[in-house]
Amino acid sequence: MKKDSDILTDSFGRKHQYLRISLTDRCNLRCTYCMPEEGIQLAPRSSIMSYGEIYSIARLFVKHGVTKIRLTGGEPLVRKDAGIILEKLALLPAELTITTNGILADKHIDTFRTCRIKKINVSLDSLCPEKFLQITRRHSFNKVYGNILSLIKEGFNVKINVVLVRGFNDNEIIDFVKLTKELPVCVRFIEFMPFDGNRWNLDKIVSFEQILKQVNARYPEVIRLADAANDTSENYQIKGHRGSFAVISSVTRPFCGGCNRIRLTANGHLKNCLFSSTETDLLTPFREGKDIEPIIRNTVLAKKKIRGGMEEIKQLKDPALHSKNRSMTSIGG
Ligand code: SF4
Repeated sequence: MKKDSDILTDSFGRKHQYLRISLTDRCNLRCTYCMPEEGIQLAPRSSIMSYGEIYSIARLFVKHGVTKIRLTGGEPLVRKDAGIILEKLALLPAELTITTNGILADKHIDTFRTCRIKKINVSLDSLCPEKFLQITRRHSFNKVYGNILSLIKEGFNVKINVVLVRGFNDNEIIDFVKLTKELPVCVRFIEFMPFDGNRWNLDKIVSFEQILKQVNARYPEVIRLADAANDTSENYQIKGHRGSFAVISSVTRPFCGGCNRIRLTANGHLKNCLFSSTETDLLTPFREGKDIEPIIRNTVLAKKKIRGGMEEIKQLKDPALHSKNRSMTSIGG
């Protein structure tokens, strides 16, 4: 039977060239919108992909057309072998990027360079240390902020991911935009999304419109920048600022039409969408020496048009649907 070469294109013609790999479900922070209060049932270590398995499976995806790999977590850098994983993946002909909470970033700057990592996303939801403690349940604001400044100084292309929650940090939107005056950084405001255990509800959302309204009210000259292909964010710049800001609006303005992302969880399960409540185990058949290409193919073909099938916002409001999905910490965003 002729091997199907195009196993990464779904039934809507979307080619999945961007693989997000969660290295671990463990984290050194406890962000309230990501990690349920009671924590999560961590996957047993034996079920977690080894660095060799991560490399081999990623290589297969690259062979079929993946051109970009993003490492996520939990917190990817808490893995003791994170450096080895980065070095092995850097051997592949694909752009390597990482999303981190920034706490351990200073310890990996040389490895980032060796592995030709240029783009680093750092999560920071408040510029106020007390509020940082409130949302992360850890006293790490100074470490994270200091590492962001170091990464920028070292010439990395840094994006700051800010999950906005109404009544918590929506009064910091302008403070974050002010950062872009002197810093060559992109601040990305992310609409709060529903995942298992994060007590999401629509009233906590700060929508795309509300964010732009605040910025336009403060800054007369907001320039609309061109978005990159398959971009999840809409990009803007204040006239005269070195940096830019962006909005990721997967709740109020989903961008699924151009989706090219597919996710591999730390225990080797393939998720065809961030919101999909279904996933496919690749690691077990891989460990049994089976051909996993047909499994990848079927998982991609099963991808829904929008948000894992939650096309209507009213569906997002149904906790029964969220709870079928994983918590954010075990998907990696
Ligand atoms: S919600 Fe799913 S389909 Fe839509 S952009 Fe995100 S991952 Fe892609």
